[in-house]
Amino acid sequence: MNMDVVVSLCKRRGFIFQSSEIYGGTGSCWDYGPLGVELKNNVKRAWWRDNVHLRPDMVGLDASILMHPAVWKASGHLDHFTDPMVDCKACQRRFRDDTLEGLAWVHYCPATKGNRFTVAAGEPCGHCGARRTLCPECGKGELTPPRQFNLMFKTFMGPVEEDAAVAYLRPETAQGIFVNFENVLQAMRLKLPFGIAQIGKAFRNEITPGNFTFRSREFEQMEIEYFVNPQETRDGRPADEAIHEEWIAERFAWYQRYGIRPDNLRLREHAADELAHYAKRTADIEYRFPMGWSELEGIANRTDFDLRQHAKASGKALTYFDEERKTHVVPYVIEPSAGADRSVLAFLVDAYREEEVRGEKRVLLRLHRELAPLKIAVLPLLKKRPEIVALAQELRTRLARRWVTVYDDTAAIGRLYRRQDEVGTPYCLTVDVKTVGDQEKGEGGDGRVTVRDRDSMDQIRVPIAELETVFDRLLGEGDWAEVAAAYPRTTA
Ligand SMILES: [Zn+2]
Ligand SMILES: [Zn+2]
Repeated sequence: MNMDVVVSLCKRRGFIFQSSEIYGGTGSCWDYGPLGVELKNNVKRAWWRDNVHLRPDMVGLDASILMHPAVWKASGHLDHFTDPMVDCKACQRRFRDDTLEGLAWVHYCPATKGNRFTVAAGEPCGHCGARRTLCPECGKGELTPPRQFNLMFKTFMGPVEEDAAVAYLRPETAQGIFVNFENVLQAMRLKLPFGIAQIGKAFRNEITPGNFTFRSREFEQMEIEYFVNPQETRDGRPADEAIHEEWIAERFAWYQRYGIRPDNLRLREHAADELAHYAKRTADIEYRFPMGWSELEGIANRTDFDLRQHAKASGKALTYFDEERKTHVVPYVIEPSAGADRSVLAFLVDAYREEEVRGEKRVLLRLHRELAPLKIAVLPLLKKRPEIVALAQELRTRLARRWVTVYDDTAAIGRLYRRQDEVGTPYCLTVDVKTVGDQEKGEGGDGRVTVRDRDSMDQIRVPIAELETVFDRLLGEGDWAEVAAAYPRTTA
């Protein structure tokens, strides 16, 4: 599957737009449209409920984006959160030094009167045998030696733009948790092991953003720092290692719980030379995105590095008193770090289907009902019958108190269904002539509406009085076949 298909659907149906598009767009920033914001909120809500509300050992936090600059010195970001960059002296483009060899390069070949060729990455010119030394984009400029470029966005706090007022937009939400460790521990009277979860924006001045919302300069993280007593053991293993395993399994299962196909997920262990210097072990959950397997979430054992660094830099003891052993310990940290934007993208890509129905193409998003931006669409079969329209609007108002429900009468019913399929609305509800009856003919209505299932396209007739009960089950734990069995089917 092609990413362009998803990008186009996202724009056409109001999921994701390019930021500042009327001005030509910014580099790699994205805006979530009316359906996108619902989807993203649903992903974040599911994550928060599962990881905070349903667990007795977890609490939440919402730290500020701007923090004391000393945080970034202690965390190592100021000195080490850098990429080696080279600049082209002719076109001024900037490249990551370590990615240059992976780029196709433009070449003006002296062996063919200076004709312009694009040569494949890492290959020599087929005519003169030369290898790339100049800028791969313009083929003319010399490249500067590599320089370290910090990925943090810099700004100034207060009215004066001077060095003492420099502040940074946080490049990760994790540090907000570490610096609040003591506050949360004391305020909530917690016992190890426990975790603190946070969802929030982070910023990285990526030089090569791309692949739609996969890598952008402003993004939202869903992070957990789970603190473990390193002196404890579980089943004969150090507790941090055992708990790390548990988190990997839990997070791997989470994506599948919300509909990601198991074939499209895999775990990838970081090799020893790839690990951050403080990490004992890191495993990535990767998703098979259109551009290939890429990281969806990283789950690292950060040891006691962060708390020790902040304790040293701040002079505050960031320890936990182990009552049993009567000693102060610096907890180890297991960090499941997920991207909200990446998760949304994976859920969208995974839900996308094209089917053939009676000789016509049907596009649908088989989004999990908890993630679907719209839950119910109320559609009038005939919009020239005022009593049908009035009842449909009344039902929308009624159902909207419980579920995100929309009303649409801007096309014929077949097209209205297709539009809802395309944005993943699990159920449509249709009010028709049979519902309201025909006064002129002296026929009374049956007081039932048609409820249609997105995935099977099955339809049943449900009494209006039972709609809340039916949707409670359909949008809760019930499944379509079981709920539908109690009602007459219809093909109309
Ligand atoms: Zn250049
Ligand atoms: Zn050549």
